[in-house]
Amino acid sequence: MSIEMDRTQWGQRVMRSPALGRCRFCLSEDVALTREHVFARWLVERLRAFRATRAAQLPADAAADARLARLVTMVCGACNAGWMSGLEVSFRQAVFARSRPDHLAEPTRRTLSRWFTKTAMLVAHSANKELVPEEQWPDLTDTMPDGMRVGLARLRRPRQPLDLEFGYEESAGTESARLTGVAVQVDDLVGLVTRRSSVTPATTLWPLRSHTLRWTTLPVVSRLSDLTGDGAIARRHNPT
Ligand SMILES: [Zn+2]
Repeated sequence: MSIEMDRTQWGQRVMRSPALGRCRFCLSEDVALTREHVFARWLVERLRAFRATRAAQLPADAAADARLARLVTMVCGACNAGWMSGLEVSFRQAVFARSRPDHLAEPTRRTLSRWFTKTAMLVAHSANKELVPEEQWPDLTDTMPDGMRVGLARLRRPRQPLDLEFGYEESAGTESARLTGVAVQVDDLVGLVTRRSSVTPATTLWPLRSHTLRWTTLPVVSRLSDLTGDGAIARRHNPT
């Protein structure tokens, strides 16, 4: 499917509510698709992130409103009330539960990986960029799409409670540059979702590894671009 076709369909679906179409996740045909927020209401309220805006590098035509809380995607009712809702509940528990264990157990790693990946790919899609090929979207309904890595870090002094940063192929500064990663910041927690072979300086959350992962010892970065930008690439090539 070309980007133009995709955008036309997107526009038509937004006009009629609910619209009939194919759900990109469960692949059901001719189902009612509704606009759902990429950042769920509970999260925006919890973080008081109503006014958090998208980073400037997103194309201006992606959406008229720059507020992250307004970003939407089209999804069918079964997906919305099913796996997506379940993933939100699990994520909320994993990150915000009052009696959260310091150790990140495997189910938590899985939840965080899927939530950050879902969010990163929908944000990329809303900017007409591809992070996860559309044929892999259905994988997210119960597992992780192949070939993706997720890193986890903390951000020192976030400028707003919710934020994003896009990372592009090295030495490419054009509109058509290939998107290689998206950093999604929730409070001071940052998930880097990438197709690159390393998530340095973040710690690897996905694929699952046996090493112990603790909330209290996550690497700390000063800027989101430390995870997506040239600095991160240089460190990968010349580890010190
Ligand atoms: Zn669906």
